[in-house]
Amino acid sequence: MARKNREMDRDGFCLGLQPVGEIDPVHLKILAGSFLGELGLRTRILPGLARPDHAFDKRRIQYDAGMIINQLEAMEFQGCHAVIAFMDADLFIPVFSFVLGEARMRGNRALVSIYRLQGNHAGIVKVALHEFGHLMGLDHCHETACVMRFSKNIEQLDAISNMFCDYCLDQIRYAIRKKAGGP
Ligand SMILES: [Zn+2]
Ligand SMILES: [Zn+2]
Repeated sequence: MARKNREMDRDGFCLGLQPVGEIDPVHLKILAGSFLGELGLRTRILPGLARPDHAFDKRRIQYDAGMIINQLEAMEFQGCHAVIAFMDADLFIPVFSFVLGEARMRGNRALVSIYRLQGNHAGIVKVALHEFGHLMGLDHCHETACVMRFSKNIEQLDAISNMFCDYCLDQIRYAIRKKAGGP
């Protein structure tokens, strides 16, 4: 495993971690450690952004995840191959009452809400790894011991693994190398 990690580091893929609103720096440090430990990925903690008022839905008292991802997609993040934003407020997409994370398949911007996961460091890491998996083109996985397993609530999230299964790990390593311009 250590050898695999070094190989990926050499490819130079950089993942930006973007705080939005009030995000405890401890969360970001734990996330950086998890991406390094699990995938050998370098991360960069980006300067904080204010909550985007235009994405606030007054009726739902939640932020529209799709609108925020659109905004992030329009922004330049020098030297980052992908960016995951972490927000301190509740998120929705139209078909769900809330979402913990959102990413477009093979996109380069994902969004995670820590609002329902205060103090649940392990849960935040799982959602972030899962959404990053979608950015790298991974679909949901049926393996019990895989972070790409779908969870529809926090109880299910707490029950899934914080690691990729061997199959998903191979897929994600391949996608990272390709995105970083490697062979
Ligand atoms: Zn998913
Ligand atoms: Zn899997």
